[in-house]
Amino acid sequence: MTARRYQELLEKNRRYLWNPFTQMKTYLEEEPVIVERAEGVKLIDVRGREYYDGNSSVWLNVHGHNQPRLNEAIRNQLEKVAHSALLGMGNIPAILLAERLVRLTPKRVQKVFYSDSGATAVEIGIKMAYQYWKNIGCPEKQAFISMRNAYHGDTVGAVSVGGMDLFHSVFDRLLFDTIKVSYPYPYRYPGTAEECKQACLDELKAVLAAQADKIAGLIVEPMVQGAGGMIMMPPGYLAEVERLCRKYNVLLLLDEVATGFGRTGKMFASEFEGVQPDIMTVGKKLTGGYLPVAATLTSDEIYDAFYADQAEAKTFFHGHSYTGNQLGCAVALANLDLYEEENLLHHIEQASEVLKNELEAMKSLPHVGEVRQLGLMVGIELVKDKQTKELYPWEMAVGARVCRVAREKGLITRPLDHVITFMPPLATPLSDLRKMANILTEAIQEGME
Ligand SMILES: *Cc1c(COP(=O)(O)O)cnc(C)c1O
Repeated sequence: MTARRYQELLEKNRRYLWNPFTQMKTYLEEEPVIVERAEGVKLIDVRGREYYDGNSSVWLNVHGHNQPRLNEAIRNQLEKVAHSALLGMGNIPAILLAERLVRLTPKRVQKVFYSDSGATAVEIGIKMAYQYWKNIGCPEKQAFISMRNAYHGDTVGAVSVGGMDLFHSVFDRLLFDTIKVSYPYPYRYPGTAEECKQACLDELKAVLAAQADKIAGLIVEPMVQGAGGMIMMPPGYLAEVERLCRKYNVLLLLDEVATGFGRTGKMFASEFEGVQPDIMTVGKKLTGGYLPVAATLTSDEIYDAFYADQAEAKTFFHGHSYTGNQLGCAVALANLDLYEEENLLHHIEQASEVLKNELEAMKSLPHVGEVRQLGLMVGIELVKDKQTKELYPWEMAVGARVCRVAREKGLITRPLDHVITFMPPLATPLSDLRKMANILTEAIQEGME
């Protein structure tokens, strides 16, 4: 595409488009990437430049882009029907995908409620938990426990259970109150990881002991707090959270939107500690990064509390226009077929080992405070001073600086403030993975000079 055409598109972007999570002033002052197509793990922009998709297009992509089998699944479904309503009706891919999801996920969750994004899946989980207690005659259980620094999406309910001040504090008055407890962050705890874990558990215990009869549920990102900075729980924490929820009769909601479908090395992060959620949300990689389908899975116990004669008014009055979309569910089924055929979990295991070695070298760089990895989920925390762990001032946007250099070198990823994320497509070939890690290392070196 010509330089002139690029300029035309930029001008139209400037005039008509407001990009998400983007300071438009900064975006328009720089030379933005405008993607035209993609092949495998590379995005190709309108000027013909190629970039590794180093964050899987914001944590979605699994088997690479323009994947023939996924393309075919959509084409085949398109010949039949693109979309029909799931309100009071059924459709084939939505039914088959529900069966598939129930078989893959922890055995406690047995029913699938669809939506179209992680945030809506979380909203649904919250509303279900809330109405569940009403439906079974415990209307006083209304409150939610959520984690400080959590991220569950950007709709008002999802922001209410979120805890990232930078994104969320401006909306304070718009949100419903939740009881916030600390998510363990050993790197920034003045003590051992074990002590950090204990302190967080003690905090949670105190809340539950005092208020459990008013609490409907607890929501947490299992094993890794994603957008909060790729912060990883010490072993044993999640299992203990589950035990406490059971003891105090509080529903456990696991948000697997980021961690689900193999990102952490297991199909679901809850498997690390054999945790059985009452409600579980999935999205992102469900369709291989192709179409917006998400789901909220629930236990039979919750489903049964809504199952009644119409007149009892126990129906779950919630739905979205595109709930159960056939194209999306069809590509999700093909995506899950590929997991099996390609033995993707085995590949992820190998790739994680390769990546671990690559990341080892990064740890010695002057401004790398901590490198955190679980499977193919990576966060590199940048600090001004490795000894004191002091951060650079927020306005310096060091993370953005590193990502800008990485992009010039042919790798796209986004910072979470001072944490560089690296989330390659799960099927990334090992040789490409090494190249991506090299670019990232160079970018950190040069970007922090
Ligand atoms: C991305 C994310 C969400 C929100 O998903 P969207 O599809 O962007 O709405 C929710 N929870 C977690 C843990 C996420 O990482």
